[in-house]
Amino acid sequence: MVARKAPQIWGCKVPFKVRFFMWLAFNDRLLTCAYCSIWRPGDPTSSALCGDNLETTQHLFCGCAFAKEVWLNLGSSLGGGWCPSDLDHLWELGRRLSRRNDRSLRSKILQSLVPAVMWVIWIGRNDKIFRGTLVSTEGVWEDAKRNISAWGCLCGGASRVLVERNSILITS
Ligand SMILES: [Zn+2]
Repeated sequence: MVARKAPQIWGCKVPFKVRFFMWLAFNDRLLTCAYCSIWRPGDPTSSALCGDNLETTQHLFCGCAFAKEVWLNLGSSLGGGWCPSDLDHLWELGRRLSRRNDRSLRSKILQSLVPAVMWVIWIGRNDKIFRGTLVSTEGVWEDAKRNISAWGCLCGGASRVLVERNSILITS
């Protein structure tokens, strides 16, 4: 399953660190509390964002109440139900944003949406654990939109990507 996604993950028009992060996430190698507890038994294993449940990769991005709210907000912005049951489902939802074999600028940018949101959730989770800062679901969406806009240059359309309010406006 992961091997099939690898070309898509490495082909995403996002910074290398985000592609590497995605590769780790889909290979279940992110340093979540559950993963770290393998080597450091006794460390907290509960989800940093909801304070409940075992923090696995699946939980962090799909099962967590925080993540669910983020995806719900995203769904209300983009239209359509965004309730990913697991990472594979989440990836498919992202892929469905553009038509098959669509190599347009818009398509490339939309393909960076799921990585952008996952990346910001991960950063927010890390900030909460290591800096004690609180992250809001609205803040995640705002930061993700900023990233998508900034990463638009990787698609060859630096000034043609506008992310405003709750919409991703792509002009070409
Ligand atoms: Zn949680």
